[in-house]
Amino acid sequence: MSDFIYATKPIQVESGDGLLLTDDNGNEYLDFGASYACVPLGHSHEAVETAVTEQVSKLAYVQASYPVGVRTQLYETLGGAAPDGIDNVWLCNSGAEAVEAALKFARSATGNAKIISTMQAFHGRTMGALSATWKSKYKQPYEPLLDDVEFVPYNDSEALAKAVDDDTAAVILEPIQGEGGVNPATEKFLTTAREATNESGSALVFDEIQTGLGRTGELWACERTGVIPDIVTSAKGLANGLPIGATLCRDWIAEDYGSHASTFGGNPVVAAAADATVSTLQDDDIADDAAKMGTYLRESLERELGDAVRDVRGDGLMVGIELKGNAGAVARELAVDHQVLVLTAGRTVVRLLPPLVVNEADIDRAVNALGAVIT
Ligand SMILES: *Cc1c(COP(=O)(O)O)cnc(C)c1O
Repeated sequence: MSDFIYATKPIQVESGDGLLLTDDNGNEYLDFGASYACVPLGHSHEAVETAVTEQVSKLAYVQASYPVGVRTQLYETLGGAAPDGIDNVWLCNSGAEAVEAALKFARSATGNAKIISTMQAFHGRTMGALSATWKSKYKQPYEPLLDDVEFVPYNDSEALAKAVDDDTAAVILEPIQGEGGVNPATEKFLTTAREATNESGSALVFDEIQTGLGRTGELWACERTGVIPDIVTSAKGLANGLPIGATLCRDWIAEDYGSHASTFGGNPVVAAAADATVSTLQDDDIADDAAKMGTYLRESLERELGDAVRDVRGDGLMVGIELKGNAGAVARELAVDHQVLVLTAGRTVVRLLPPLVVNEADIDRAVNALGAVIT
């Protein structure tokens, strides 16, 4: 039997608790990427564990056309947590599907075809989401993809304003590009995107699959920027490790969304996990902690790494370190010699997306390890 897609790391993970992962030899690793931002509350969070266990023993699945209490509850929680003016929730099973729905809804609501995306963007790997993704390595073997997708340089407001016209269905962007290298959008770029889409009657889509759920210091990064889009996508950490995606949208999008559905979207067990996750994020004001710990993390990194790196950037607990050398080599050395797990974003950027429950001692450990490897 072979797993021909996933690269195997030289460890077998057995269990997780908070920021720690334990392998089959009992070695512990500090998960400073939150397994791609999928566990904002840390591994095996008690509230999520309880919600999942109770739900699976009651009802694992019922077809989506029957209302079920726990899903109805999630609609309320997520609708209440959504940015102002965005009241409609559509549930699916992954980030790519959430983007796929966003693009379909935008086309249906506007009657237009053209999608405008940004260079270096990552929006997922289904055909539609992939069409709005930049990297040719991800796309080339599967072409032809969607026509009518145009890429503008990220943060080039003039190019964006010029690209949006009467044929545009959507502008899609990440408020901070994740995969693309942890690149924050300028205020001007976001304001331009809002004004141009308002003028043309097209939909502004923020892909908040990585920036959302408190990571940048507000529940949604768009609340930090003050530019509220028409559609927000969420996934990754939304159910603290269980598979889920959500497409949140304004009324004018929901009114004319066409016909779209997902068999497992809003699955009761996953809905229970998501409701527990979002409720905990809100009740415990975890976004505030993320803002504080993010500042501590970035200040510690700047002090420890200084001129040994080109740049430390990001917001809250979404941090990119632009190296002078290869990021993959640094990530490997951190894992093997220091048991600290980090992510990369492109060839030269180390990406840190720790669980939002990270504390100063965890940060000190990760920063010391980064210092030992990099300087
Ligand atoms: C991870 C990610 C996706 C894709 O999510 P999947 O669940 O892997 O399909 C889309 N957009 C952004 C910004 C992401 O970080």
